[in-house]
Amino acid sequence: MKILVAEPHGMCSGVARALRIAEETLAGHPGETLWCFHELVHNEHVVARLRARGARFVDDLAAVPPGGRVLFSAHGVAPGVRRLAEARGLEVVDATCPFVAKVHREALAFAARGLPIALVGHKGHDEVVGVLGEAPERIRVVETAADVAALREAWPDAREVGVLSQTTVSREMVAARVGELRAAGLEPVLPDARDICTATCQRQDAVRALAARCDRILVLGSRNSSNSLRLAEVARGAGTPADLVASPDDLASLDLGGVSVLGLTSGASTPEDLLQTLRRRLESGAR
Ligand code: SF4
Repeated sequence: MKILVAEPHGMCSGVARALRIAEETLAGHPGETLWCFHELVHNEHVVARLRARGARFVDDLAAVPPGGRVLFSAHGVAPGVRRLAEARGLEVVDATCPFVAKVHREALAFAARGLPIALVGHKGHDEVVGVLGEAPERIRVVETAADVAALREAWPDAREVGVLSQTTVSREMVAARVGELRAAGLEPVLPDARDICTATCQRQDAVRALAARCDRILVLGSRNSSNSLRLAEVARGAGTPADLVASPDDLASLDLGGVSVLGLTSGASTPEDLLQTLRRRLESGAR
């Protein structure tokens, strides 16, 4: 079996930056707990490594003792979370990715113009929850065509709609929702620069090109990693079967019989050493 690896793949600048911030904070305060609000990144291996070094992960700031040091993840947080941290006297370490922070600023700008806002993304994702919090009365998350219809119902007289997106969705998803907004009689107003980040676009382009040369694709990434799920979808959209594997250990349960060219890629929060382990096991035939 021939193995090809997508380029680029794996960890993006935003995740690398968040990890560096977390590691420097832990190293600078030995013996002290670093409270991480939600998973720092959506990768269970990264989370486990940080936990071993003194990080603790919470989904509610009430679990952080007053005066504690709290780290906001690359996915960003809603303004209400920042206010709560301040009210509780917490020391905030902010690892929000600059690409996510840009979407927050755009939400505020569209809201200031009085536009209804369609946020193309996945409901409940940490990044989406954070952006939604900037203007909850004006933003609707549009994940499906039904969500577009609901937005139209909420603003029956609107002519324009601001369109934002989660940084890790596919361009196909944004194009589909924009088309549906137009069909509903709303003129989309887009930000000056697209919201899907460069790392996401490059990794999706790479897996699309790789899919054309392979008869199966494996995406290494956690099941709650939006960008990893999208990589598998993009490969399937290009006509090649694709599987998301959370760990090299998952190989044991995969049937790769009949595959002659296998493509590998990894999500933006997947450590490179895991991909290399996966590759070595495939090349050696070890499962
Ligand atoms: Fe930032 Fe993009 Fe990486 Fe998300 S995927 S952390 S937006 S660079």
